[in-house]
Amino acid sequence: MTIFQKIIDREIPADIVYEDDLCLAFHDVSPQAPTHVLLIPKKPVVSLDGLSADDGAMAGHLLLKVPEIAKQLGLTNGYRTIINTGEEGGQTVFHLHIHIMGGRSLNWPPG
Ligand code: AMP
Repeated sequence: MTIFQKIIDREIPADIVYEDDLCLAFHDVSPQAPTHVLLIPKKPVVSLDGLSADDGAMAGHLLLKVPEIAKQLGLTNGYRTIINTGEEGGQTVFHLHIHIMGGRSLNWPPG
């Protein structure tokens, strides 16, 4: 079981900013920007690679929630979304998550 499943199950605490039937968003414990939130599906999908054709509505729901949550967080000057996939993609928690980061100018390209 991943740490994010434990957050969904309320076994460990998180600073939750949004929740509905399909997803949960909470502040990253190690923020890399003034605002750094993770948006996750409640369904335990490992990564983008773990999505199946049946997940289209859920994946679309997640994407559509990003601008809503960014607005709620006050990210009016833009923000960055990142989905790390697999070892070389920098993924460390194997439950799909979208990083939503903002509150400062972010460099490009990332390292
Ligand atoms: P990734 O490297 O893309 O898999 O991102 C995993 C993210 O989860 C990292 O930014 C971590 O700081 C964050 N993280 C790990 N444990 C927790 C936790 N208990 N609560 C909130 N964020 C966490």
